[in-house]
Amino acid sequence: MRSEQKLRDLAHTDSLTALSNRFHLRQALNKAIEQNGPIALLCIDLDRFKAVNDNYGHSVGDSILRVIAQRLRSCVDQQALIARMGGDEFAILLWSQAAVKKVDELAHNVVDTLCEPIMISERQFRVGASVGYTVSSGSHPSLDDLLIQADIAMYAAKESGRGRWVAYSPQLGEVSRRRLSIENGLRSAIDNNEISLHWQPKVDLQTWQVVGVEALMRWHHPELGHIGPIEFIPIAEQCGMIDKLGRWALSEACRAGTNELAGLTIAVNVSASQLQLFDYVHSLEEALQQSGMAPDKLELELTESVLIDDADKALAILNEIRSTGVRLALDDFGTGYSSLSYLRRFPFDTLKIDRSFVTELLTKDDAKSIVKMITDLAKELGKHTVCEGVETVEQLDLICTAGCHQIQGNLIAEPCPLNEFSRTINPDLKPLQREI
Ligand code: C2E
Ligand code: MG
Ligand code: MG
Repeated sequence: MRSEQKLRDLAHTDSLTALSNRFHLRQALNKAIEQNGPIALLCIDLDRFKAVNDNYGHSVGDSILRVIAQRLRSCVDQQALIARMGGDEFAILLWSQAAVKKVDELAHNVVDTLCEPIMISERQFRVGASVGYTVSSGSHPSLDDLLIQADIAMYAAKESGRGRWVAYSPQLGEVSRRRLSIENGLRSAIDNNEISLHWQPKVDLQTWQVVGVEALMRWHHPELGHIGPIEFIPIAEQCGMIDKLGRWALSEACRAGTNELAGLTIAVNVSASQLQLFDYVHSLEEALQQSGMAPDKLELELTESVLIDDADKALAILNEIRSTGVRLALDDFGTGYSSLSYLRRFPFDTLKIDRSFVTELLTKDDAKSIVKMITDLAKELGKHTVCEGVETVEQLDLICTAGCHQIQGNLIAEPCPLNEFSRTINPDLKPLQREI
């Protein structure tokens, strides 16, 4: 009898953490559903476990998971079942009236407790967690529906910035269905020719010539219609599709750069996660070679997020890219950490001042001085400046006074398909012509 009990315990237990396993959680959830009482189910996913596991090895990863298990135990009382669902995903099931009532408090507590630093072999780790939960009282949905609901809420928590907790609601279901369609659609979008590049000119303020052009990705989804890069790029990053999309954009941009757009500097946006792939520089060199594109005619636009996680590693990759002759631009400057020390330390050739400053130029006094200060400093460091999102001649005039090198924006031209792209710009817009 004792060995039978032992066998059952083993079958119900996660061997690493001694918590319940997925199988046991499903059993307990089934039982709770049959009993028709209230149920709360929390789904907990660690935010930065994968990076720790990849960089410091599985034994550190395992130790962290054990600490997490201990902390989860400290968050709940006896009337709960805590399970490790696999990998870095955990769940908590509550079925007593009192516990279910306090589920939001528990979710909050779990997030706070798991974001505390963890010491392993004198090293400090901060993994953090996102929590989603669903509550059901009386006529319950099926076991799988409850698990899906908690999962949907957890993804919403992750998307809202990590280290958060979110309760399930049917509206979240809508959002997650759209997300799922996008994720699935992305897998075949390139092969189905649904992705294209649009092009927006960059104008030199001294010569009033189009000197460069930025490639911006566009997607026409067969059912959902036009989906903007602001929506699909972050999803592509999360579901591992950004590499394929990025390679396609780079090779298409290089192809156009040696044909229809020859002579212009071609700018391509690159996500931080693309640089994490170990052979990024190799694939860059391959694209240059295959197209015959001159490296100094290609500029990669990166945002500050690339510098935040591991600045030393980023610096090494950026230097490697720079040594191929390809230029680097810091995109959306002013929206992230905006540290001026980045400019000194990292090998950027160009600084793109974010549209938000340009928009505020006429309404906020300090926007003017900020643009002037950034431009002056960039000049001192030998970097080019581009003002993004210029929409009016009034903005253009202020930018000229600040001494910016180039502008880009709907005032000159909106992004358009290659066959509509023009190198001529409206001469009436030229600032000197208008005697500012
Ligand atoms: P970004 O690189 O900062 O691109 C500039 C964005 O501002 C573009 O939005 C452009 O259409 C928009 N824009 C340009 N001029 C104006 C203006 O005068 N007024 C206004 N209101 N907007 C203007 P878009 O095309 O929606 O792209 C959004 C972002 O998506 C890009 O911001 C970039 O971060 C990302 N993205 C686009 N294509 C790619 C790509 O191929 N790869 C990667 N990784 N990201 C991309
Ligand atoms: Mg850009
Ligand atoms: Mg930008």
